[in-house]
Amino acid sequence: MRDKLQIAKISAFKPTLGACCAVGGMGANASQLEKDIGLEQFPTNEHYFGFVNFGNTCYCNSVLQALYFCRPFREKVLQYKQQVKNQKKETLLTCLADLFHSVATQKKKVGALSPKKFITKLRKENEHFDNYMQQDAHECLNYLLNTVADILTAEKKGPQEQENNGSHTKADPTWVHEIFQGTLTNETRCLNCESVSSKDEDFLDLSVDVLQNTSITHCLRVFSSTETLCTEHKYYCEVCCSKQEAQKRMRVKKLPQILALHLKRFKYMEHLSRYIKVSHRVVFPLELRLFNTIIDASQIEEFYGVPSDLQKNSTETGYIFFYQSRE
Ligand SMILES: [Zn+2]
Repeated sequence: MRDKLQIAKISAFKPTLGACCAVGGMGANASQLEKDIGLEQFPTNEHYFGFVNFGNTCYCNSVLQALYFCRPFREKVLQYKQQVKNQKKETLLTCLADLFHSVATQKKKVGALSPKKFITKLRKENEHFDNYMQQDAHECLNYLLNTVADILTAEKKGPQEQENNGSHTKADPTWVHEIFQGTLTNETRCLNCESVSSKDEDFLDLSVDVLQNTSITHCLRVFSSTETLCTEHKYYCEVCCSKQEAQKRMRVKKLPQILALHLKRFKYMEHLSRYIKVSHRVVFPLELRLFNTIIDASQIEEFYGVPSDLQKNSTETGYIFFYQSRE
């Protein structure tokens, strides 16, 4: 049953992603979607709603869609909606909660909704998104998750404490961190004395390079591959007290509950002085085996969703992927 649900979820992304700029014919698409999934397979209490595009807002709509189908995140947002029922102050989080609530309480199973209030708030809060240009879905996801976490932290502290503490103390993890935060470890091994120094770093998503004829698994292997620091890039070893050749690698120390992967589809070309789009096909498995963790040789993650502007061009397979840990 679980597998079936996963497939249903992926199909559900098609209306928004496939036709990210056209929601007009949603009524007809909707019934087609119900037929495609099959009524008996349609999960009870699940709603598949496309979001109306307000002029190149597909980057935001696709992020919203994927976050909605990221169940742990959705549940927390809906709980928040219940907690702040009578709050008058409008934040990006209250707008998100209203939108999720509106999807979750629809009578119909499929259809289209207008995320106008959310988009208006996003444009008002961040001038970067305050225009009608194509934007980066990854930046939008990042901004949204960090803003939600900041709002939750501020609300937890209360106004008094905020003034006293400022940003000196490290904030308690919020549910955004509990869902998406993992830890990376940067290891550097001195090739002269073999001593290893390591430094941990928290992340909400991982950005991986896109190569030709590749898969997500391969992108992650490359991400954690060993790099040799030599010639002018030598590393200062604290033990040797001098610059030495060293090997550097990055591994996942703690996997998040949901692993968000960002495919770097825009590459800066120095000779052109601009970014070009890397449209290589990237194969993604429904089950991801991770080999670059230090906890377990083969941790399995389950595919969750693709927030991306999937174009008609079939070589494009998204910008961001979500995988959920089995545990
Ligand atoms: Zn050394």
